[in-house]
Amino acid sequence: MDQIEFISKIYKLKRDIISDGYDQALEIIKEYIPIKVHKYPSGTKCWTWTIPEKWTCEEGYVETLNGERIIDYNENPLSIASYSEPIDEIVTKDLLLQHNHMHSYLNDEPPFIFYYYQKQWGVGISKKRVNKLNEKEYRVKIKSKKEKGLLKVGDYFIQGESEKCVVLCTHLDHPVQVNDGLAGVATCISVMQELAKVKKLRNSYRLLIVPETIGSVAWLSHNEDKIENIVGGLFVEMTGLSIPPGLQKSYFGDTQIDKCFCFIHETEEKEAWIAEYRNLVGNDERQFNAPGVRIPMLSYARAYPWGHRFRPYKEYHSGKDNLNITDRMKLEKSKNTILEMIKTFDRNYFPINHFKGEIFLSGLNIAVDRHKNLDLHRNMLKIMDMIDGYNSIIDITMKLNLNFNDVYDFLEQLHNNSLISKKYE
Ligand SMILES: [Zn+2]
Repeated sequence: MDQIEFISKIYKLKRDIISDGYDQALEIIKEYIPIKVHKYPSGTKCWTWTIPEKWTCEEGYVETLNGERIIDYNENPLSIASYSEPIDEIVTKDLLLQHNHMHSYLNDEPPFIFYYYQKQWGVGISKKRVNKLNEKEYRVKIKSKKEKGLLKVGDYFIQGESEKCVVLCTHLDHPVQVNDGLAGVATCISVMQELAKVKKLRNSYRLLIVPETIGSVAWLSHNEDKIENIVGGLFVEMTGLSIPPGLQKSYFGDTQIDKCFCFIHETEEKEAWIAEYRNLVGNDERQFNAPGVRIPMLSYARAYPWGHRFRPYKEYHSGKDNLNITDRMKLEKSKNTILEMIKTFDRNYFPINHFKGEIFLSGLNIAVDRHKNLDLHRNMLKIMDMIDGYNSIIDITMKLNLNFNDVYDFLEQLHNNSLISKKYE
């Protein structure tokens, strides 16, 4: 699928967490993959959380008393805070500025602001425009409403040989934003489309498309029986940026899925970097890694590390996070890397030795052509040394600095000779 084309169809929608725009986006996704939609009504208790109401904003503007428009929701949805309370009043400039949000460094952009769990009205007038406000009073109109609605989670499941499942998670909300959320949805859908074509998958795969945080909490709290079988996951976003990709480890940091994903991540892209848990992004992976759940979920994002002036990226939470900064090649590269990570973890297992002593390789006709693969040829004895049930393929690969597929293929030879059996996590 063409990820840019997909994003183009959706990004302008006003995708507040429970809203008509979000629902429309889910409908478009159905053209690409057959998702099942889980619905959680406003007011539903989800562990310590409660599903909020649906929010709709018909119109919203600030104007001078002479009718000159300063901002207009219909032109830029970021000019009204998501989930803002309604208001229709003439207010002083002081009061207006108390309710205004300016981007910290983009002077001509309002930031993306939300009041999901507060009763507050808010507007976004850029710093540049604020500097030109010289009237004492302004008219503020926000015609918004909150009402009972349905929080929706899109769920696409691919059954593998095993009930063990890997979850891909991505968030679809955030009005008019491309990389914060939507690009990750595009990439995950393409990954799932590719996975659906793979003939033999050991694990099952589930893609969850959620409104950030509350969507994950809603799904997890209503599917506690499934948690035990989820062996790991990946949260994905910001896949279209021209920034080196980061991979954030899970809470545990050293699980088999951590090792497989980190190893491939670093192999696939030269400038790829790895972050400890909570050092790259903070999204839905938090809910999966949290106490009582503890699913090792990593996060993939093309973003700057902590300490960088523009972390996570310069256009973050502004109207500039649009198609202009979104690169088709980066989207595609992210898809390929994630697919490779998944395929690697899918084939990873702990070889259990059924042999004692060193294997009589020449006697059993097990060989690696030294002209074809000198590295593997030189390491055959070391690999055999590590086959004791405690080292997985990725453990062996990393310790000996080899290629995962080479080690896998060599072990297949041992398996075909009934010298080892395979133990999956
Ligand atoms: Zn965000």
